Amino acid sequence: MSSLPVLVLNSGSSSIKFSMYEAGNGERTRLFEGAVDGIGTDLGKFWIKDAGGKKLVDQTPAVPSRSVAFKLVADALHSGRFPVPAAIGHRTVCGGPTVRENQLITPQLIDEIESYEALAPLHTPIAVYIMREALRLFPGIPNFAILDTYFHRTMPEVATRMPIPTEYADMGVRRYGYHGISYESIIYQLQPHVPEKLIVAHLGNGASISAILQGQCLDTSMGLTPTGGIISGSRTGDIDPGVLIFILKQIAKTTPNTDAAAEQLETVVSKKSGLLGVSELSNDMRDLRDAIAAGNAKARLAVDKFCWTIARWIGSYVAELNGLDMLVFTGGIGENDIASRAEICAGLGALGIVIDAERNNVRGAAVISAETSRVTVRVIPPLEDLIIVNHVVRLLGE
Ligand code: ADP
Repeated sequence: MSSLPVLVLNSGSSSIKFSMYEAGNGERTRLFEGAVDGIGTDLGKFWIKDAGGKKLVDQTPAVPSRSVAFKLVADALHSGRFPVPAAIGHRTVCGGPTVRENQLITPQLIDEIESYEALAPLHTPIAVYIMREALRLFPGIPNFAILDTYFHRTMPEVATRMPIPTEYADMGVRRYGYHGISYESIIYQLQPHVPEKLIVAHLGNGASISAILQGQCLDTSMGLTPTGGIISGSRTGDIDPGVLIFILKQIAKTTPNTDAAAEQLETVVSKKSGLLGVSELSNDMRDLRDAIAAGNAKARLAVDKFCWTIARWIGSYVAELNGLDMLVFTGGIGENDIASRAEICAGLGALGIVIDAERNNVRGAAVISAETSRVTVRVIPPLEDLIIVNHVVRLLGE
């Protein structure tokens, strides 16, 4: 196969990240990466840097809307300074119950993904907007949807079925699981020696954890939406349903319109809870660690709750897997927050998980378990864009 430039687009609620790889003959070379941050503000950031880290674009434009943001990206890519992409891979958080396979994007597919917007309300609206714009602005270039839910398609029904009346289950309410591209990238990096019983904790602004048996997803913590599962930056994670009813009734006192009340509830559970809600300070682990060092008790409680939840989840997954060979930490906190890794693993000695304090004292890839640990504990940064490129190349039939 000849070399193909493949563009990866990865949109979030306030940013669009992108990168381009030269893909050919099993080789993948990153040419550049970039981002537009601060969508919805007067002072956004737009940067592109080459594989060596040299800034090729470094601007602070006003980015009032996602259309302005994507135009910045498209204009730069059409400027002649960069190769024209041969194909585009879109990170797609959720395709709903009908779109389960990575595939070519058509206008009909975008409509189908959009019809399940309520399942990932923070991610799907901007993703479908960018898919439509990419089809318009890059005519004739194949675009592919690469799903975060794809990795989780192997979960058994006992894990995916929600204990609710069947009429709602039939509407697509089930466990989908997210961060799947990150999990795939961990398996990819462990090959050819993927441990039989593996737990991966993806701890970023959004956090999730998966039990993986023989390289396939057995269970994962996020559910219908990325708000489920473990507590994260500003999301509750799993919570007693009675709490939602209580909060909804409080909201309904001043907001009788049902849709508006549901939206307020969504904001409470997705944007105001988690580490931010408990600490009343920040959703960012670095801020919380600084506050803990300064003696802030609420920050301490928020981080304790985070580590305690993850430790409990690891315990339940060891039970589901009936043992454990390897535990992997990834994501911004998993890779960089030495203290969180130590605090999560501190009480897991009975499960054979023992960390070596010195080995753990690193940022980035490492084996951090002690010689005496039955379970190997590793830190592995995710390579999500590379996995998207691999899927695109496979789908192109190259
Ligand atoms: P996203 O889910 O948005 O991709 P990331 O994977 O980048 O997020 O993770 C962001 C989280 O990682 C934040 O809570 C941030 O504080 C944390 N983080 C990043 N660097 C460090 C660090 N050096 N020490 C502690 N936490 C860090």
